[in-house]
Amino acid sequence: MIEVKQINKYFYTPDKIHALRDVSTTVEAGEVVVVIGPSGSGKSTFLRCLNRLEYADEGQILIDGVDILDSKTNINKVRADVGMVFQSFNLFPHKTVLENLTIAQTVVRKRGRKEAEKKAMGLLEKVGIHAKSGVYPDQLSGGQQQRVAIARALCMDPKVMLFDEPTSALDPEMIGEVLDVMKTLGKEGMTMVVVTHEMGFAREVADRVLFMDHGAIVEVGTPEHFFVNPEHERTKLFLSQIL
Ligand code: ATP
Ligand code: MG
Repeated sequence: MIEVKQINKYFYTPDKIHALRDVSTTVEAGEVVVVIGPSGSGKSTFLRCLNRLEYADEGQILIDGVDILDSKTNINKVRADVGMVFQSFNLFPHKTVLENLTIAQTVVRKRGRKEAEKKAMGLLEKVGIHAKSGVYPDQLSGGQQQRVAIARALCMDPKVMLFDEPTSALDPEMIGEVLDVMKTLGKEGMTMVVVTHEMGFAREVADRVLFMDHGAIVEVGTPEHFFVNPEHERTKLFLSQIL
């Protein structure tokens, strides 16, 4: 599904930052991969490279065999196929919940309004907020807004869903409702790459965990491996700090 081969990413700010160092991994269809690591280790940059919000300077990224770094690749198609949910919910503030879910469907997927609304309502029901379809985002709690953001990404029928710390901006009592939606998705077979500090989620849902430090993938394993028997000193140190 996703093949990442030896990607390198640099930022010039003006100091040269080597944000991703020879990152290689594969994500199989239906797999849930959780990415953990300290602040600044490159987790967000890695995710953003997967839908080309950032352009990897070197290496290759194939999504369902499509080379997304190839200049001939239609990047809007890639972004529709690779859904992303951010820490800040990024909903359109002047559009209702329903409109938030239909715009990209009509523009990018070329669906008619009726069809787009039907799809949207089905997904709002799935995330438990169909009663709120007519309200504006600021009338919703953070947890509800994040569930709308997830439903919006799902409206595009993505092949993969990327989550960048989707619960970090939420009040504690709302974290569970968002994680529950993500757990359901994972169990239904959605391919997901999730950056999170929620180790309970990692334990329960992840097929694999990647630990990143200083732009590199340092250790890869099952949740059991990480929480019972981490190998590298840097992994042990990180886990001892967050667990
Ligand atoms: P956090 O846990 O704090 O979100 P992260 O693991 O997601 O951290 P990244 O945001 O990917 O880390 O950042 C990796 C490195 O790249 C950091 O040194 C960061 O300062 C740098 N970086 C990220 N985005 C940019 C940018 N747009 N311009 C310049 N430097 C950047
Ligand atoms: Mg980040």
